Amino acid sequence: MNWITNYVRPRINSIFSRREVPDNLWSKCDGCGTMLFHREISDNLNVCTSCGHHMHITPRDRFTALFDGGVFAEVAVPDPLPDPLHFRDQKRYPERMKAAQKSTHEKEAMLVAAGEIGHTPIVAAAQDFSFMGGSMGMYVGNAIIAAAKEAVKLRRPLVLFSAAGGARMQEGILSLMQMPRTTVAVQMLREAGLPYIVVLTHPTTGGVTASYAMLGDVQIAEPNALICFAGPRVIEQTIREKLPEGFQRAEYLLEHGMLDRVTDRRQMREELIVICRMLMKLPPPVWGELPAPGPEDAAPAKEPNKALDEATKG
Ligand SMILES: [Zn+2]
Repeated sequence: MNWITNYVRPRINSIFSRREVPDNLWSKCDGCGTMLFHREISDNLNVCTSCGHHMHITPRDRFTALFDGGVFAEVAVPDPLPDPLHFRDQKRYPERMKAAQKSTHEKEAMLVAAGEIGHTPIVAAAQDFSFMGGSMGMYVGNAIIAAAKEAVKLRRPLVLFSAAGGARMQEGILSLMQMPRTTVAVQMLREAGLPYIVVLTHPTTGGVTASYAMLGDVQIAEPNALICFAGPRVIEQTIREKLPEGFQRAEYLLEHGMLDRVTDRRQMREELIVICRMLMKLPPPVWGELPAPGPEDAAPAKEPNKALDEATKG
């Protein structure tokens, strides 16, 4: 009956609101609302160029930017028992796992890799907040142990990037057991005299902050990262008091002595190189690479070869 509102208007609207570029080319910064071109975001390691807001970055993208030439070797992590409790909430745990694997293209919530940063060999582990909130289950525990073992075997420092909503409730007490397990893994590094550097990213909360994420020899955080055991909302409700501005954020924790540094993601690589080299008693880093040999550098090799050919003939 009302065909103008039901038919004509939607058609007109769709013609005028049609976008010239696909949605995924532009993203809105959560910090300041600026529209950013996707290349601009990825070139800046997912940091907003207008306000410096640090957006989520996947472990794989982080490692590609961190390691020399984007080259790293993944360290194998032993598979834990799947779904030990046959847990089910609205969905079965294996279904949730499959959905997370499909959306992230990763096997689990932590990626472990070995490679070089500024010609400094390291082992690195990074937690993926987009994989079930980066929750610490048995796999994450296994990953940290594998990373620590690899670092001890190769005599390298371990750099860990944390991001987690806490323990994985679908694994119940088995996920809580990862707190002592990972603490033992960190102790392995300590006994081997190897540095353990933690980079806390937004957000690092719950059981992760009660274990491996707080045991670093050097504790670095990304700007404005939320780092806490219980979140501000829970604390506010419990103590019935208004919390100070910036409570539990990286800068606040730095001021109150819980962190050593707060570092912009774009300067993180250089800072990690300096710290790793210092703690490994290596000479200071040399910034800048020598240019690759050009065609004119390779040319003079022809003549001696000719002479060599003739000499071998005769
Ligand atoms: Zn912004």
